Amino acid sequence: SSSLGQGESKVGTLTHSLLPSSLQLTHNLSFLFLCSILYFSSLPVISPLSPPFLSSRFSPLYLSSLNSSCASYVGFQGGAQSVYFGRACNVGNLCHELMHALGLHHEHTRPDRDQYVTIQWDNVVPGKENNFKVKKGDTQDLPYDYDSIMHYGTYYFSSNRNPTIHSKKRGVQIGQRNHLSPLDIARLNKLYQCE
Ligand SMILES: [Zn+2]
Repeated sequence: SSSLGQGESKVGTLTHSLLPSSLQLTHNLSFLFLCSILYFSSLPVISPLSPPFLSSRFSPLYLSSLNSSCASYVGFQGGAQSVYFGRACNVGNLCHELMHALGLHHEHTRPDRDQYVTIQWDNVVPGKENNFKVKKGDTQDLPYDYDSIMHYGTYYFSSNRNPTIHSKKRGVQIGQRNHLSPLDIARLNKLYQCE
C-alpha cells in the first residue's frame, strides 16, 4: 500500500498528457472485475493490462511480483510501468495500487486532510512518515472520503500498536479494501474526464 516516491510530483502533468480515450468507469463491478481477472490470471507471469487501461495514448501497465507487499508509482512514469504485488496482496490491494498508477495519492494525504483526520506522528514507524505527509494535488472539489480505497486504516505503519490515524468524525471506518467508494469512482471519472 506504499506508494513509490518517484514521480509523485509529475501526477498533474502526466494525467493531462495521457488522457485515455477509453477509460470509462461507470460502476464498481467493472473495475473490481478487471482487477480480479488480472489478479488471478497473471501469477506470476508479467502480463500487460488490457483495455480500458491500454490505448494508443496510454503506457502499458505490467504486473510484477514483489516479495510480499504491494506497490505502485503514482501516475504514469512514461513507457512500460510495473504495478507490484506480492503474496499478501488481495484484489482490493491491487485495485488500490492501480489507483496509484492512475494518478491518485492516498486520501489521507490530500491538502485539506487536517480538517478530517489527525496523524499521530509519535506512533508512526520511523522512516514511514512520508506515507502520511500531505501531497500536493487537486481534490477536484470532491468531499473528503473516509470510505476511499485510497485511505489508510487506523493502525497502518504503527510502531507500537497505537493508532496512526485518528478520524475526527465519530464512527467512521477507514482503510477498507473491499470496494471502490462512490467518491473513488467520481474521482477517477473527473480525473480522466469521463463524465
Ligand atoms: Zn497506497
